[in-house]
Amino acid sequence: MHSALKPFWGALLVGLSAFLLPAIAGAADHAPQREEMVRTIEQHARYTSDIVGEDGLSPRVLEVMRSVQRHLFVPERRRSLAYADRPLEIGYGQTISQPFIVALMTHLLEPGPDHVVLEIGTGSGYQAAVLSPLVAKVCTIEVIAELGEAAAKRLAALGYANVETKIADGYHGWPECGPFDAIVVTAAADHVPPPLVEQLKPGGRMVIPVGGMFATQHLTLVEKTESGEVLTRQLLPVRFVPFTRAWQ
Ligand code: SAH
Repeated sequence: MHSALKPFWGALLVGLSAFLLPAIAGAADHAPQREEMVRTIEQHARYTSDIVGEDGLSPRVLEVMRSVQRHLFVPERRRSLAYADRPLEIGYGQTISQPFIVALMTHLLEPGPDHVVLEIGTGSGYQAAVLSPLVAKVCTIEVIAELGEAAAKRLAALGYANVETKIADGYHGWPECGPFDAIVVTAAADHVPPPLVEQLKPGGRMVIPVGGMFATQHLTLVEKTESGEVLTRQLLPVRFVPFTRAWQ
């Protein structure tokens, strides 16, 4: 009797672990939360499609949002909120943007596999990680040294090998890394920095929140036509941390 039970318990254990282990691994990897986050992003994109003038977000962008481990880009004490559709503090008075805004900005850049993209405001490195699989190279600049250094380490440890980082005032861009097919600015400036327009390739796109400290900020799309003409379109009211200048 006793020995006959053994294989039963053994089989039960094997059966249980076949069920439980992937579930536990999935939970640690936060895949279900990411799936939920992507559903929320899609919903948010539907609500805003009229004002933004975009009919849904690119499947390539949603796929990347589904795979990047956002919880590894937020401070440990904030991990439980990593997949909520809201911005989170990352220290030094800065924030990691809300997932919907990251997805929307990435979509608006129309990233292509041979593109070189500039980001101003590395912060946690999350936006750079989202861009990384979609393009050939990401160059990202952060003005707060501690944040930029931590993000550079994090991105390297997670294997984002096509991301180059730099500590500087991003107002001046990064001519040696460019010219750029797309530029994303993740802090609100009161005007579009001319050096960034300069470093944008003809046919290139820039997405930047524009608005003063106490004024409404608008997510703004800047397009440089093939003939070099610059077109600007305000898309959506947003709230970003301020673009600071190194000398301030
Ligand atoms: N893209 C980031 C969001 C960071 S918040 C992420 O995915 O986590 C905006 C960042 O822009 C902050 O870290 C802030 O320090 C940085 N920033 C503000 N002004 C800047 C400037 N002039 N040059 C470079 N970075 C700047």
